[in-house]
Parts: sequence; C-alpha cells; structure tokens
Amino acid sequence: MRYSALSILLNGLKGNKDWTPAWRSPAPKKHYDVIIVGGGGHGLSTAYYLAKEHGITNVAVLEKGYLGAGNIGRNTTIIRSNYLLPGNNPFYELSMKLWEGLEQDFNFNAMVSQRGVLNLFHSDGQRDAYTNRGNAMRLHGVDAELLDREQVRAKLPFLDFDNGRFPILGGLFQPRGGTVRHDAVAWGYARGADSRGVDIIQHCEVTGIRRENGKVLGVETTQGFIGCNKLALAAAGNSSTVARMADLTLPIDSHVLQAFVSEGLKPFVDCVVTFGVGHFYVSQSDKGGLVFGGDIDGYNSYAQRGNLACVEHVIEAGVSMIPALSRVRVLRSWGGIMDMSMDGSPIIDRTHIDNLYLNAGWCYGGFKATPASGFCYAHLIAKNEPHKVAAAYRLDRFERGYMIDEKGVGAQANLH
Ligand SMILES: Cc1cc2nc3c(=O)[nH]c(=O)nc-3n(C[C@H](O)[C@H](O)[C@H](O)COP(=O)(O)OP(=O)(O)OC[C@H]3O[C@@H](n4cnc5c(N)ncnc54)[C@H](O)[C@@H]3O)c2cc1C
Repeated sequence: MRYSALSILLNGLKGNKDWTPAWRSPAPKKHYDVIIVGGGGHGLSTAYYLAKEHGITNVAVLEKGYLGAGNIGRNTTIIRSNYLLPGNNPFYELSMKLWEGLEQDFNFNAMVSQRGVLNLFHSDGQRDAYTNRGNAMRLHGVDAELLDREQVRAKLPFLDFDNGRFPILGGLFQPRGGTVRHDAVAWGYARGADSRGVDIIQHCEVTGIRRENGKVLGVETTQGFIGCNKLALAAAGNSSTVARMADLTLPIDSHVLQAFVSEGLKPFVDCVVTFGVGHFYVSQSDKGGLVFGGDIDGYNSYAQRGNLACVEHVIEAGVSMIPALSRVRVLRSWGGIMDMSMDGSPIIDRTHIDNLYLNAGWCYGGFKATPASGFCYAHLIAKNEPHKVAAAYRLDRFERGYMIDEKGVGAQANLH
C-alpha cells in the first residue's frame, strides 16, 4: 500500500480498517539467494537496495530480536558528512544525498531534519584543524562554514563562552547535517524491502555458519537450518561473535555507548551541537526532549546498558558547556553495543571465504551511513566488486597498514 495524503483521508473515512501491516512475518524458506544476518539499519537498507537497484529479491534478513532493537533504534539520530579523508568523504556525502531523497524514495516519513551540525572549537590549534577539515569538505563539494565566536553566540547564546578550561572560539558548521527519526528508518527500509519480495524474519538468531569445502552453505538458526548462495553479515555490535562462527577474527572491539533524553522543553537548541573535547553533544527532538550523549564506556561489553561513571562524566561535560542543563531532569537513558574498528572507519568487503561478505566496524557513527552502507554493500554482494566510494573499506587494510585514520589519533585504538 502506498502512503499518501489521499490514502490517509480515505482510510480515515472508512474507520482506518483497511491498513495492511507494513511488512509480512513469513516463515523462512529452505534456501535464499542472499541471507543477511542482522535486521538493523544496515541489514535492512542492504536488502532494500539489493531488491531495488539489482533486482535480487530472493533475500532473507534474519534478526535475532525485533526490528529496531539494536543500534538503529538506540542512536542519537545525527547525520552529517563532515569528513576529512578521501577514503571517507565521498562515501558519507553519498549517504547525505541518499538521506535527502530517502522519504520520497521509500515512501515513508523518516522525519529527515537538516537543521545543521555545529562542532565547537576552543583553541587556535583546533581552529586550524577544523579549517583544514572544512576546506577538505568544500573541495569535495560538501557544505561547510567556519563560524567565529560571535556567530556561534548569535546562534546559541546559552553556551558558556568563557568556560575556564574550554572557552569557545568558534565552530565548524555543516548546514545540511541534522537528525532523522532512527526507528522510522528501520521501518521504512523494512517496508520497502518487504514490498519488493524480501523476507524479514524476526526472532531468528543465527547460531552457526555451515560450510563445506571453504564455501558457506547456509546458517543454523533458532528456526532451523536455512541455505543460501551468499551470506552477508551486518550484525553491528555483534559482528565479532557472528564472524567467529566462520572462524574469522575481526579487528573490532565491542564497547557500550550510552544516550540520554531529558524532559520536554520549549525549543532552544535548533541545531546539533558537539563539544568534542569534553565528550558531549546535544540536539533537541521534535517533542522537545534534549537528546544527548558522550564517549563510549571504556571497557568491552555486549550489554545494552552502561555504567554510572560514564553517566556522571557526560552530565558534567554537558553542564560545563550549557550551565542551564543543571536544572533539567533526565527522563531516560540506554546503551547500545558499538563495533569499534581499530582506525575508527568501517569495513565493507568480501572475506577470504568466497560467498561470505562483511559489513562492520561502524563505531559510534554508523547511523548516518545507513543509506550509503546498504547501497554499497548491495553493490558488492550483487557484483562481487566494491562500489567506488566504499573501495577503501577493505578488511585487509589493517594487515597492509592502510588505515583510514579520520581522527588522526595514530595507531592506538585506546586513543579513540
Ligand atoms: C547511544 C548511541 C548513539 C549513537 N549515535 C549515533 C549518531 O548520532 N549518529 C550516527 O551516525 N551513529 C550513531 N550511533 C551508531 C549507530 O547507531 C550504529 O553504528 C549503527 O546503527 C549500526 O548499524 P545497524 O543499524 O545495522 O546496527 P543494529 O541496529 O545494531 O543492527 C544489528 C542487528 O544484528 C542483530 N544480530 C546480532 N547478532 C545476530 C545473530 N546472531 N543473528 C541474528 N541477528 C543478529 C542485532 O539484534 C541487531 O538488530 C549511535 C549508537 C548508539 C548506541
């Protein structure tokens, strides 16, 4: 069923009895051309683009929980394409362009809101680094504006500009960045994939990968064995555990990242603001809640909840940058599992097993990549060659030393 103003009106007149489910709940078939492990944003968008761009519709997405239970429904909804390096920049800009047409494309309201993303800077050195980044973005055709202190003050007067430790000198602004309703992205892609024939199978955990003569035959699941020609992993925070089923060890650590939402307030933060040196960022949801977060909890975990020390750190950083936050009540918080790669950049690649494909290493920034990740992963699966904007995301770069060190922190993962 196509959603439109007319369909809402007609269904409303008939008592809203004719709506059909947004996607089916089929029993798994015995065999598929492609099985995707993980019904998060990346798995669902991959299925959608496999069907839409390549006509491959004999596809199953296997999800151990329900759609939206993973990071796609847990992130803080920020999208941006303010990247520095040539390995990253065209990929994230493709994602931004896909976001810009996404709602019309999959006929679903994902509340794409290009309200702008502002990264604050606090020293001359940091301003130079942001100028460098802004110039790299503009050279790649991406929008970027360097704001001085007074321009930031005019936009966000409530920030503590004379903060003793981190006085605000300005910020790098990407006007086309913003927020998107995260779970609607999962639902929109699921609905779009399902309508093209993809089977989305929830509550179906992959427990093993069956192989013969170095080739994947299919997966063992909690709903039995399911065969496939190609197996595509998109399990985000659980990538290492799923890859281990095929005896693959990934250069990935799993960490918890927490997020917080405050009580509803009148509109006062009209763009996304990041206070990177303090590990704090905030935006305001359409319902009025402040949505904010900080850095990862500093230990490996597969729990979808974090610790109090990190909560304290995030709130302290927030109050130091926005003193008025001290009077705001936090309503809820949660955690998600991050698949932290060793250089902070993702992997979209074939593995040494011919029909096994890998999509992982999204760290804490994979939501904004959802459209381009699915688009490029579908291209790889369909054609067995990388899409040109994702060509740098090779698994063997860690072995060859070709890191995509976007943050410039060097080879030490613990400095992320
Ligand atoms: C608190 C928080 C804030 C974040 N903020 C942002 C942000 O503002 N902007 C941004 O760009 N990114 C952000 N991220 C990161 C982003 O959410 C992730 O990088 C991205 O969502 C990961 O891809 P996914 O959507 O496919 O993951 P998921 O939704 O986690 O999908 C993976 C799925 O695989 C399933 N799975 C795992 N193992 C199995 C198995 N054995 N069998 C079957 N299914 C399995 C899981 O249940 C899960 O549903 C944030 C993350 C968190 C937790």
